[in-house]
Amino acid sequence: MSPRKFFVGGNWKMNGSKKEIEALVDTLKKGVQGDAVEVVVGCPAIYLQHTASILPSNIALSAQNCYKVSKGAFTGEISPAMIKDIGAPWVILGHSERRNVFGESDQLTADKVGHALSEGLKVIACIGEKLEEREAGKTEQVVLSQISALKPAIGQNWDKTVIAYEPVWAIGTGKTASPEQAQEVHAIIRDWLKNEISSAVSESTRIIYGGSVTGANAKDLAKKPDIDGFLVGGASLKPEFVDICNSNA
Ligand code: PGA
Repeated sequence: MSPRKFFVGGNWKMNGSKKEIEALVDTLKKGVQGDAVEVVVGCPAIYLQHTASILPSNIALSAQNCYKVSKGAFTGEISPAMIKDIGAPWVILGHSERRNVFGESDQLTADKVGHALSEGLKVIACIGEKLEEREAGKTEQVVLSQISALKPAIGQNWDKTVIAYEPVWAIGTGKTASPEQAQEVHAIIRDWLKNEISSAVSESTRIIYGGSVTGANAKDLAKKPDIDGFLVGGASLKPEFVDICNSNA
């Protein structure tokens, strides 16, 4: 039995309307019961407040991004203080779409992570290699350099951080990493935590997998010892998200 509570995050990305979110939350209310698994949904900023008002108490709310300072002349951005103010305790940072579509660097991601944690938010911090990096045998190097860049920003706050390993080639492609491929990288990350932070942090930090997780493949992935849950994109908008939440049962 893992000492780490199973964690499933839904990343709705830029999807949904008030009506669709209400229907989805209704499905989650019926299907996700009790608190054996920690469930968090990542909602577009404009719907955070509305979603906060309808979520049941066993499902927590997350923003999908935030900026690195509290307030000021940053048109279009939202701050961790604002996310907390509307009642969301989590934020997803460093998602590969932020890194690769919007050009956010390791340094900017680290600045955001550090500021969000200092404001009292909990962070789902994403890392993962691109296909060409995997094919060039650089997966370990890329993933460890991304997590190393976050180390000073996370500081003492590993208990408020979940690491999401999301190979870029698996995101939204239908090409899930096999349980063995995912486990291999999760074990590398856990080892890094042991060597660079501490044994206690290595044993207690949740490392979740993301990339084409479905109701059909979640159970096999969840069996692996170092896979502590999932970050789910496409399937988090569908009723099968409930099966993913319950895949460790
Ligand atoms: P996917 O997305 O499940 O649609 O592959 C995962 C993610 O981007 O977090």
